[in-house]
Amino acid sequence: MKDLSVYIHIPFCDHKCIYCDFYSIINYKGVDSYLVAIKNEIRLQGKKYSGGRCVKSVFFGGGTPSFMTPSYIGEILNEVKNEFEFAADCEVTMETNPGTVDKSKLVDFRNVGINRISIGIQSFNKDELEFLTRIHNAETAINTVNAAHESGFEDISIDLIFNLPGQTSDKWLSNLEKAVSLPVTHISAYSLILEKGTILNKMVLDGKVELQDSDFDAELYSATIDYLRKSGFLQYEVSNFAKEGFQCYHNKIYWEYGDYLGFGTSAHSFMDGKRFWNYSALSIYEEAIRSKQSAIAGSELLTKNQKREEFVMLALRSSGLNKNKLTDFFNKNDFEYIVDRINKKGYSNFFNISTDILALNEKGYAVGDEIITELLL
Ligand code: SF4
Repeated sequence: MKDLSVYIHIPFCDHKCIYCDFYSIINYKGVDSYLVAIKNEIRLQGKKYSGGRCVKSVFFGGGTPSFMTPSYIGEILNEVKNEFEFAADCEVTMETNPGTVDKSKLVDFRNVGINRISIGIQSFNKDELEFLTRIHNAETAINTVNAAHESGFEDISIDLIFNLPGQTSDKWLSNLEKAVSLPVTHISAYSLILEKGTILNKMVLDGKVELQDSDFDAELYSATIDYLRKSGFLQYEVSNFAKEGFQCYHNKIYWEYGDYLGFGTSAHSFMDGKRFWNYSALSIYEEAIRSKQSAIAGSELLTKNQKREEFVMLALRSSGLNKNKLTDFFNKNDFEYIVDRINKKGYSNFFNISTDILALNEKGYAVGDEIITELLL
């Protein structure tokens, strides 16, 4: 049986945060018809892809899935279970916004099959939360983490963003201090990224917001790695840190170039070396399922070189490149070729290199994206 991961996109949100470029909709009128459409899509894709595969992780992302009722999420999950072989220890994560759930709703989410919660906190600082236009304050965020813990969730992840405009090292470290004082097992810490088409991007272009420079970003990133390691969180990818035994399986499938199927508006899939993606607009997505029995808007069959490059990029951003796990799209001496490139380019101090594992070290994680692209040229 081949492992499969499933991503489910729930596009509905309370409002649009200024930095967000995910596909989201600020009204709830379409919630019921979306449930019908997504269940149909799961059935249609199940007929095609369920053979010989077992679902090892499901991730409800958005949007704000935690705005939905537990029975809504449960119905979708049951559809996945009906259509696919489902592992008994399947990791089932739901993105959750602080303030959208209380203890009783979280218990109900557990009862329908969610066993991991990923809470989008971003900051514990009042000014930073207001700047990001989040719907919650620090107290609500803390209460949501505690409620998740009290309702029986053992695997709780939180997201934080650093290098916000005007953020000092002390402010960022106080965010980390608060994070590790809570019952969380996993922390995703991302640097603020300016995405095209966001409100924040326009604010920067209009000169209303000034971003901090990349040297300071690197300083905060390095402080993050240091602080979280001392606090018992192991770094297992550029932006992800977990207590022993709590690495996110779903993330690892992406980084290890495994198969995943995405359902819902704008969801992406990667199956047997082919990438495909769904329509983004809700009405077009639903109509496509009704009339064409498919929500796929486009696809791309990757060449051997593209696969090789993506594989190396993803492996180096996470647990490293393992010579014994290189797949059939690699050439015989690729591992040695990449090591040779690293040495010739003078990058060896950014890597830990052994006879069969090549991994970025702590310094390397900070500059990985810049140098990895040069290694396969
Ligand atoms: S809640 Fe999340 S998905 Fe919705 S707009 Fe804000 S950042 Fe984007």
